[in-house]
Amino acid sequence: MELVVEDAVFVTMAADAGPADAMLVRDGRIADIGPAEAVRAAAPGAEVVRLGGATVIPGLIDAHCHVADVGYLAAAADCSQPAASDIAAIQARLSQAADQTPEGSWVTGGGYAEYKLREARHPTRAELDQAVPGRPAVLYHTSLHACVLNTAALREAGFADEQPDPPGGAFGRDSQGRLDGVVYEAPMFALFARNLRRDIARMGAGADGGLVQAAGRRLAALGLTAACDADMRRDTFAAFAQADAGGLLSQRIYGLVVHDQLDWLLTAGLQGRHSGQLATEAVKIWADGGMSSRTAAIHGTYPVPPHGSGILYFERDELTEMVRDFDARGFQVCIHAQGDRAIETVLDAYAAVLAPGAGNPRRHRIEHGGAMYPPLAARAAALGIVVASQPGFLSALGDGFAEAFGDRSDQLYSFASWQREGITVAGSSDAPVITADPLIGIRDAILRRTGDGRVLGPAEGLSARDALALYTTRAAFACHRESEIGSLEPGKLADFVVLDRNPLAAEPEQIPGIAVLATVLGGTPVHQDADIFPGR
Ligand SMILES: [Zn+2]
Repeated sequence: MELVVEDAVFVTMAADAGPADAMLVRDGRIADIGPAEAVRAAAPGAEVVRLGGATVIPGLIDAHCHVADVGYLAAAADCSQPAASDIAAIQARLSQAADQTPEGSWVTGGGYAEYKLREARHPTRAELDQAVPGRPAVLYHTSLHACVLNTAALREAGFADEQPDPPGGAFGRDSQGRLDGVVYEAPMFALFARNLRRDIARMGAGADGGLVQAAGRRLAALGLTAACDADMRRDTFAAFAQADAGGLLSQRIYGLVVHDQLDWLLTAGLQGRHSGQLATEAVKIWADGGMSSRTAAIHGTYPVPPHGSGILYFERDELTEMVRDFDARGFQVCIHAQGDRAIETVLDAYAAVLAPGAGNPRRHRIEHGGAMYPPLAARAAALGIVVASQPGFLSALGDGFAEAFGDRSDQLYSFASWQREGITVAGSSDAPVITADPLIGIRDAILRRTGDGRVLGPAEGLSARDALALYTTRAAFACHRESEIGSLEPGKLADFVVLDRNPLAAEPEQIPGIAVLATVLGGTPVHQDADIFPGR
């Protein structure tokens, strides 16, 4: 099977690429790329598709995405702002969702950020009770580090007024000390996981594969051909494996397997590469909470509720032993760390495990790295730590960061400084925390503008090419796949995206408006708007 794609602008992202206006695809790989005449001469019998001046870029890679959760939350009531601008709007959406939620499942909404609501606070259990009386309802915070429960849900979860805060988490309380319905961190993760699992089970056999496919279609429409699933577990792995066996995955999925699932993974002999589209070579650990839920572990105290210093899940020695064990077993270690206190702890653990002078051969990563201030960035660079970060947080959550971090907010997500230090930064979304749209991430990496229009760290903006590199070459490196994907070069897999305009020539403000005309995975379209590749 041979295909020549021509009459297009090729943004190859290859280090030493000559000019190209045509590409030859053979057996799922790029066989040639360069001047049209030469490419056509290399394959005289090939089918030719002319793209009418469209732009072709490498398939985009999301280095940190909760893929199964994207599929799950796609079915929940959309309570994000600006769509639901106040608590009454959230109530209306939840009450509407209740009519469509089967008995036995919790009525579910997601996507809200309290500081974007007109009331600028979390909804309460009483307000959720008004919207959904008599049966459990849950409203997930956009960070997925907090949620609000109504009274029936609190009861079913076993949370009572007189109960102290659980380990690794906290309850919101009213002035009398009664639970106000807000649940932070560990108990929220447990609830989310339990509901996800129970609802998957209720959907019946095969439906979990459907969840993965729904997420895959959504991501393909955004130009994504690969994603690290940042939360892979036994049941979601089964869903991915099932979809993979049926040829139904729309992305190459690189699983970061949650650390407490490794016994199962190793016993089942499932560490490694399963196919061209599914791999489990990395392990995921959470070192602290989230930035927008103000639970990231920081030095000092947040000036905003819940007024703590964040939550650190592991002391340094315990984390070091985990890293040492996983490293010895051949895993790439990926640790969620947002606050400076957590990042410091993670760097201590990595420094204790990595042999001096030997670099970081397994490419151990920090996920997010929000408050990786200059001295920490210098340490990370010296250790060769890869950082998977989320430029799109700046527009979606940046105003909340500014409130929580004050003077230091200009030093958050300091991509230009990190790049100058020599850190490999991979682009990602953390969806469904925010949209998975990489074009929004690329814009934000350049402009760094918050929802309210303030610019966080004006000196930290990247060039358009570097912003695109986050989601291509550098994300490929972050998952050990740079010899196969991330740029358009002979021998690499034919993963590419057809755009209606060139993001490197567009005004940054216009980048999210660029249309994804087609997304191609290994030479096969997994999304096309118009009939660009007829019969495929
Ligand atoms: Zn995440």
